[in-house]
Amino acid sequence: MSGNVYIPDVVAAKVTDIDPAELGVKGILIDLDNTLLPWKDSVVSEEVRQWAAKVRAGGVGICIVSNTHNPRRLRKIAADMGVESIYSAWKPLRGGFKRGADILGCKLEECAAVGDQLMTDIKGGNRAGCLTVLVRPVDKKEFWGTKISRFFERRIMKKSGLEYK
Ligand SMILES: [Mg+2]
Repeated sequence: MSGNVYIPDVVAAKVTDIDPAELGVKGILIDLDNTLLPWKDSVVSEEVRQWAAKVRAGGVGICIVSNTHNPRRLRKIAADMGVESIYSAWKPLRGGFKRGADILGCKLEECAAVGDQLMTDIKGGNRAGCLTVLVRPVDKKEFWGTKISRFFERRIMKKSGLEYK
């Protein structure tokens, strides 16, 4: 972590570009909406499914850590990908990340926290002690609260010279 909780350690264009071996992590704690798939969608792409299978085949666990309060939708997506999941994670609080790391049998410092939002995924991941990876949001559709956060994110990104890949 750089000292600024909003700044990710790594920027990736999309989740399928993430190679845990390259990052040196044993677990991936990943956001759901606009990271793995568009907001409100319920089917992940074949590309994402294959990426998850390859990561898991390499001995690295994946847990979706989401602020969604809809466990049915989340569990279906997680089952499709063959990964673990946590709903109502209350990111940026640390608890959801800790529960995810515990499920994967890893320490928080051994995990990458991946997501599309600085104020939840990256701030929370940095505070939890994870390696943080920012991805570009996969779609423009968003929850109204997220649209408000984006305003502040743009200011943080501009001020710090951070750019999406
Ligand atoms: Mg998201």
